[in-house]
Amino acid sequence: MATTHLEYSNEADIALAFRASQMTFKSGYTRPTAFRRHQLEQLWQLVDDNVDQLCEAMYHDLRKPRFESEAMELLMLKQEINDALLRLDEWVKDEKTKPSLANRFGTVCLKRKEPKGTVLIIGAWNYPVSLAFAPLVGVIAAGCTAVIKPSELAPSTAKVISELLPRYLDNNAFHVINGGAHETTKLLAQKWDHIFYTGNGAVARIVMKAAAKHLTSLTLELGGKNPVVIDENTNMTVAAKRVVFGKMMNAGQTCVAPDYVLITAKAEAKFIAALKEALLTMFGENPQSSEDFGRIVNDRHFKRLHKMLTEGKSRDIVIGGQSDESDLYVAPTVIANVERDDILMQDEVFGPLLPLVRVVDVDDAIEFINSMDDPLALYVFSSNKKLIKKVLDSTRSGGVLVNDTVMHVGERTLPFGGIGPSGMGNYRGEFSFLAFTHIRSTMIKDMNPVSEAAMSLRYAPYNSTKIML
Ligand code: NAD
Repeated sequence: MATTHLEYSNEADIALAFRASQMTFKSGYTRPTAFRRHQLEQLWQLVDDNVDQLCEAMYHDLRKPRFESEAMELLMLKQEINDALLRLDEWVKDEKTKPSLANRFGTVCLKRKEPKGTVLIIGAWNYPVSLAFAPLVGVIAAGCTAVIKPSELAPSTAKVISELLPRYLDNNAFHVINGGAHETTKLLAQKWDHIFYTGNGAVARIVMKAAAKHLTSLTLELGGKNPVVIDENTNMTVAAKRVVFGKMMNAGQTCVAPDYVLITAKAEAKFIAALKEALLTMFGENPQSSEDFGRIVNDRHFKRLHKMLTEGKSRDIVIGGQSDESDLYVAPTVIANVERDDILMQDEVFGPLLPLVRVVDVDDAIEFINSMDDPLALYVFSSNKKLIKKVLDSTRSGGVLVNDTVMHVGERTLPFGGIGPSGMGNYRGEFSFLAFTHIRSTMIKDMNPVSEAAMSLRYAPYNSTKIML
């Protein structure tokens, strides 16, 4: 879909961006909270002044509906910045702790919140503005500098980001580098203080290897197959609407999109009827002509989804199933009777195909979830507290949401991140600040004679009665 020509940065640009960011950080220029505050305000302004340009770029890259761009990317980002501005003074404050007995006398213990340093942010294409700028909010709040590498697979957005950022943010502290694997490899060779990567697990392994060379800390925001457990007694109408919402936004290209549904044979027909109704209401008879339904990012991903749709074992396409390569369109599709070893169940779907897998009961659902990699998100629809607790207690995932989908990502009081193959570390709200902050253990002793006397037991000559004390 995207035809924008994105000019890639060259080696000299990469070296310069890294050096400038590193030197700026080392000079202490980004540490004062007044600087951080101003940069956060500038980032807010960048977004606010350029809503049309950013939405148009995302439409061009992904045919992302304007509402989705504004609500899921720009509004969330502005709220994130507002929150950081509101809470910055509280976040940066040293925290006093009460010393334990061995240090009780003449001692102050502090947790100092210090910026980690120079950060590399590597973004992905599916939420191209948010995945470049949401981590940047944390970087700025923490007092770090950064080089951002937006995804080349959303070239219009990458181009706009690289044009706008230097106009609003400090040019010594924050830089944008454009490019693909080659340019990212060059970036990864530098000695960063932290790397924040969003994308797939295969590249995450490359990033981790590069980070290992310099023992650089990492945040990895990855994906996975997010299960939805549907209790047969749940309200199917509401459950279906909420599953369709999370699955079909951005044409299913969302890291926390419901990947597949686990449901009993008894409840399946009712759920399918409710899904049909929800899809019809949201996208009409022909979703291809709906302005509210996006497109697949490129031909490679279209072909991947087409293969999943056509090369599976015997299963029933109960809703949708159409596709149009010339328009990179894949219809919202529900596939029932999907076997557990079907092609749809191998990798993250990352498109508008929703497989329904039959389970005998909740124990069977739990067993299946636990046979797969730990997902980024897990969804349960039920009003049965015991069942909910059982699922939560016996599974693992980055996050879990009961009776809805996706909404937990925007909740700034909760950390967002994966576990194991779905990621490492987290961010959003204060957790973004913490992702780029080193909590420096700080102990300050006085030289008071009373403290000295109280602490003198530790000096040689040792004797065992001292330990008894
Ligand atoms: P992508 O293709 O845009 O790649 C991500 C980044 O990696 C890009 O900036 C790209 O230039 C870089 N890259 C690609 N190949 C590289 C290589 N060989 N060496 C170094 N860098 C390289 O995005 P993607 O990986 O297709 O993203 C989709 C995946 O990301 C899905 O699995 C999705 O679930 C996950 N995701 C996770 C989150 C989250 O917050 N957890 C958000 C969005 C997407």
